[in-house]
Amino acid sequence: MNDSSWPQILRRGVIDAKAMHARGWIDGDTMESSDALRGQLNFRVPQAFAAAIDAGDKSLARQFVPGLSELTQAPEEMVDPIGDEARSPVFGITHRYPDRVLLKPTLHCAVYCRFCFRREKVAKEGLELTGERLESAMAYIASDSRIREVILTGGDPLTLTDARLKQLLERLGAIEHVRLLRIHTRVFTALPERITPELVNLLRTARQTVWTVLHINAPSELTEAAKASIARFADGGLPLLHQGVLLKGVNDTEDRLSDLFCQLIELRVKPYYLHYPDLAKGTSQFRIPLKEALDLMASLRGKLPGYCQPELMIDIPGGKGKVPVAREWLRQQDEAWQIFSPLDGEWHSVRYPNA
Ligand SMILES: *Cc1c(COP(=O)(O)O)cnc(C)c1O
Ligand code: SF4
Repeated sequence: MNDSSWPQILRRGVIDAKAMHARGWIDGDTMESSDALRGQLNFRVPQAFAAAIDAGDKSLARQFVPGLSELTQAPEEMVDPIGDEARSPVFGITHRYPDRVLLKPTLHCAVYCRFCFRREKVAKEGLELTGERLESAMAYIASDSRIREVILTGGDPLTLTDARLKQLLERLGAIEHVRLLRIHTRVFTALPERITPELVNLLRTARQTVWTVLHINAPSELTEAAKASIARFADGGLPLLHQGVLLKGVNDTEDRLSDLFCQLIELRVKPYYLHYPDLAKGTSQFRIPLKEALDLMASLRGKLPGYCQPELMIDIPGGKGKVPVAREWLRQQDEAWQIFSPLDGEWHSVRYPNA
């Protein structure tokens, strides 16, 4: 394996509190609490972001450098904020909607995001989906013919080797009722070297159609290497969606969001969901008031193309599912409808016959 292979580059990430302190990323108090912080969620800042953090990029530092605020649990915060545990029929699977399941083949990632809502599980040892666990997960999917889509998430499924991915794709490919695969990943920006021609080929030749959803939050994650990795997928004919998390101090301004979404559509990636941060333990430093979040999204309407605007999503605590949320655009008043215009910021009364 040569020095520029992706596993080597992955290993060169900054995972050590002392190294972070030496680079001026964290203070002495934070370094001293590093065991407690690591207990919440392991550390890894990939090489792809290290130089920009050195140079003072706050939107990257806030996402990936650990901080003491993670040790504060707000009263509303939970260990399992979206009720995944209750919907897990077998190890490695979450089944909440009839037609699609989450399958978590690994809980390791190329980067550990300090706002991660799966922080209780992610990067913990002994949670790999192999051997009998894998057999049970495959048997579960095979046994329920309603399952049309399998969503590979984790952790980050693209931290698996090609050999393991190939095995997984072959197993899933043998299940007739599974028509679609979806991969949720952060490697396009965190470890762009992972996107090799071999990987593109593996996914292109899978029996099912594979949709890939890129997790990206800050425009500065889109380095030249990241853009090239996205182009390799798009050129290979693999459809791409984007999801992000609305994060205070990272992307909570109109300019940052427009910059991110406009760059994505140029790169042939459709913005799909922007998540309002779940109530995960130790993440309150990342949430802006929901009212502000709705106003921010509304401010993009009328300014950017429709296909450049994701839906703002909330995953209701307790496993009640994901819902799109938005400011009120439409209301009924007497015999007429009132519709809000993003162009003039006013309500307009409209009457439609028989409606
Ligand atoms: C988010 C999620 C999905 C996917 O939902 P889409 O709206 O199709 O993107 C599926 N299952 C579970 C359990 C989820 O949390
Ligand atoms: S890559 Fe995804 S699963 Fe991994 S730490 Fe970041 S948000 Fe969590």
